[in-house]
Amino acid sequence: MSFLKVSDVSKQYDEKNIALEKFNLQVPRGGIVSMVGESGSGKSSLLRIIAGLEVQSSGVVHLGDQKILNPQQKLVPGYDEIQLIHQEYKLYPNSTVEENIARPLLLYNKDYQKQRVEELLGLLSLTEHRDKKPKQLSGGQQQKVAIGRALSIEPEVLLLDEPFSSLDAIQKRELIEELKVIFEALEVTVVFVTHDVDDALLMSEQLLIIQKGKLIQQGNVREVFRKPVNEYVAKLFGYLNRIPGEEKTYIRPSDLRFEPNGLEAKVIKQQYLIHYNLLTVELQGKKETWKVDDASRKYEVGDKMFLTYDEDKLIRFGK
Ligand code: ADP
Ligand code: MG
Repeated sequence: MSFLKVSDVSKQYDEKNIALEKFNLQVPRGGIVSMVGESGSGKSSLLRIIAGLEVQSSGVVHLGDQKILNPQQKLVPGYDEIQLIHQEYKLYPNSTVEENIARPLLLYNKDYQKQRVEELLGLLSLTEHRDKKPKQLSGGQQQKVAIGRALSIEPEVLLLDEPFSSLDAIQKRELIEELKVIFEALEVTVVFVTHDVDDALLMSEQLLIIQKGKLIQQGNVREVFRKPVNEYVAKLFGYLNRIPGEEKTYIRPSDLRFEPNGLEAKVIKQQYLIHYNLLTVELQGKKETWKVDDASRKYEVGDKMFLTYDEDKLIRFGK
């Protein structure tokens, strides 16, 4: 059962800038999905249209039975039910954490206001920071306050447009994992947009891949990883090594094994990375250079080796 439904939405800003082309998307109530695409692929345009903050060129967005009206059709653009959060989302600098979260609730019953704010402070682990001003908080805490404020009026849908890009990697990962648990508990429907597959996967195994304004692949990460529809999708997950003499057949560095026999290769470069050494190797008698993960950190420049792989790990596009 789809809850959030995007049907054939296109967006063309001008002759040169086509942001979306007949984009279709369905998310069930309470579903959490991650959308990945390179910069300029149309992610922000899509979220703004879903939120009713941008006029589409054609197509329609539904939330349940409700048609989302765009700013040409609605006097006050946007919906309480659909909250969009992006990186530049501004908190009120002179208000405390508690006041920022309570702000959208000003017209609500006082008891409800109090109870909702307490609940969100607790869920977001912000209770001890309730009296601080935004500038006294870390970047991650500020983003949590922004999310707390967006969640205060119990929206049905939360749209996250790369909101964590300004955070450092560790802060970001912890925050995404923490928020995922909260979103699940609140049963809010979430579309999380990012250009980073690692971030996307911390939020959800359900991936949507957008390329040049089109939804080109959708599914569980296992499926997308194993059967990417094209090179763009495959490369979101890292390097690809081309199988010599074959068109569009590849193997990932992590799927190569060192064995007593196989393809002969010589190390021409070694890079020390966090979990393994990344080797660049020349295949004996072939034009290709490959990347190989060396978890044992055993191989040095100049060393020779034999590489093998399982046939079922080969990647072929278009299936
Ligand atoms: P993303 O969020 O994936 O980076 P955007 O939705 O911001 O992608 O942009 C998609 C395309 O639409 C890009 O080519 C961009 O230059 C263009 N675009 C976005 N906003 C505008 C605008 N206000 N006017 C003209 N072109 C725009
Ligand atoms: Mg964007």
